Amino acid sequence: MMGKAHFIIGTGVSLSLLALSGQPVTAGAVAIAGVSSLLPDIDHPNSILVTRALPDRLLRILQSAMLLVAAAVLFYAPLEQPWNSVLAAIAVIAMFLPEQALRKGAFVLIGLAVIIFGERYAPWNRMGGILLIVFSLAPHRGITHTVYATAAWTLLLYGLTGSHGSSIWIAGGLAYALHLICDSLTKNGIRPLPPLKWKLRFALMTTGKKSGKRVERIGIGLTAVLFAAVFGIRLIEYAARVYLQLSS
Ligand SMILES: [Zn+2]
Repeated sequence: MMGKAHFIIGTGVSLSLLALSGQPVTAGAVAIAGVSSLLPDIDHPNSILVTRALPDRLLRILQSAMLLVAAAVLFYAPLEQPWNSVLAAIAVIAMFLPEQALRKGAFVLIGLAVIIFGERYAPWNRMGGILLIVFSLAPHRGITHTVYATAAWTLLLYGLTGSHGSSIWIAGGLAYALHLICDSLTKNGIRPLPPLKWKLRFALMTTGKKSGKRVERIGIGLTAVLFAAVFGIRLIEYAARVYLQLSS
């Protein structure tokens, strides 16, 4: 399924369910629902989330900066020979890596930074960094499209934000799970519980094909109806309350 459909369905449905469960729909919950609806495809080098987080221009800058990094490592790193030469050589090689490899490398470095520097702020950051590294190195529709990844992401959000309420981890967990459910509609399906070979696959559509577009449109339409029903009623309730307050 395409990223846009994942985003609309995942965010729309999870926020509707969040509201129906009686939890407040906070700005943080909206943001996390949006990210979580796209997160499973972080292992795909052309996914929306990846290209938005690391746009081409930033990648170019990163590539050129590698030359400076190489020089700095060579002359200033407090390392014994030959390790600074090795590191400098790695930085130079990174300059010429294809875009996809560079993107993955950048995510791994961000993950490492989160593990090393984030630990100080919250012990859960270590888990976040590990998840980021594993997710971005995994083959497409591999580990990120499993029950384990859904559980790990939900647990991470719970650990990081649970003390401030339940909206964020519920919205994020739902949006992530919805991405997997949507992908199970495709011909390829998903393998949610490896090493079990069992596939969740309804084969209603092929991504990019006509059948795929139709199913995506139906999904987006149903999401819009659910969203309008849940939040339309809330809006009317709210307007009525304001009106009553103003008129009393
Ligand atoms: Zn996917």
